[in-house]
Amino acid sequence: MVECRWLGFLVTFVCLVHVLDASIGDSDPLYKACLEVCTKTGCVGKKCFQQCQFSSDVTSPNGPWYMQEPLYLQWKQWGCQGDCQYYCMMERESEREVQGKTPVKYHGKWPFRRVFGIQEPVSVAFSALNLSMQFHGWVSFFILLYYKLPLRPQNRKPYYEYTGLWHIYGLLAMNSWFWSAVFHSRDVDITEKLDYSSAIALLGYTLILSILRTFNVREEAARVMVAAPLIAFVTTHILYLNFYKLDYGLNMKVCVGMGIAQLLLWAGWAGLSRHPSRWKLWVVVVGGGLAMLLEIYDFPPYKGFVDAHALWHAATIPLTYLWWSFIKDDAEFQTSVLVKKAK
Ligand SMILES: [Zn+2]
Repeated sequence: MVECRWLGFLVTFVCLVHVLDASIGDSDPLYKACLEVCTKTGCVGKKCFQQCQFSSDVTSPNGPWYMQEPLYLQWKQWGCQGDCQYYCMMERESEREVQGKTPVKYHGKWPFRRVFGIQEPVSVAFSALNLSMQFHGWVSFFILLYYKLPLRPQNRKPYYEYTGLWHIYGLLAMNSWFWSAVFHSRDVDITEKLDYSSAIALLGYTLILSILRTFNVREEAARVMVAAPLIAFVTTHILYLNFYKLDYGLNMKVCVGMGIAQLLLWAGWAGLSRHPSRWKLWVVVVGGGLAMLLEIYDFPPYKGFVDAHALWHAATIPLTYLWWSFIKDDAEFQTSVLVKKAK
């Protein structure tokens, strides 16, 4: 009897978790019915999909491995399911709109309108703009350090002690925006994990960088002491999400925690230091904090295109420009101090 009660508890718990996991949109009986009809007939209303016409007699259990479950059949099934979900969602949403109801989420996501098969065109465009802005910032930083500022006479290397660290930052940031654009084009398991992982890697790295710069850590050993535990933590978190459980709630807490920590570090430093470009830092910190609110306050897409997440990607474009401008000012300022010292 005790086992029964335990089992009952477990089943209720699992169901509860499942209900929490699902969205309002996909638990709607009309949407479910549409999906069922679509996967059987391959049609939503008058619209029919080629993907859904698969014959079941292709598989032969005794044949060689490549005959058993042809990969293209799996692809077709996957494509059919995706098309059915999308067109049933669109149909339900237009019905709901006529009734004056607001959009709801389906399978954890807002109903976005596709453009040329791209799921979230606005987020893709903003990700691409962020990527180009990062590239522009990184290239101009490179030109400033190696062609405009004086180099150390003994080894022809820049005076600025954070050069290598900002180069790595540029590469990680560009990598992260690339995967962001890919993920918003096509949301599947692998693209989602790549986007999340590269964003966490970037956020963890910028936290390390903010500690090293604000505390002016220049010793190699001290830098390693700061970086090692944070790298271990971020790596564990990425491995946990990829190979154990993609826990969105936990990830949100980790990311917001790391984000706020570095914003506070930069704000404290901007307040205390006499850095000539500290106003740029202030704008990035306040702007970044406000932009982060967009990521937490989630609203449905306007006209099926622009949602809070897309606006968050838009907000980071001017902030990135100002951020690289601050980095370049810092390099120039530090170089002039070190050149004076060397004389
Ligand atoms: Zn995104």
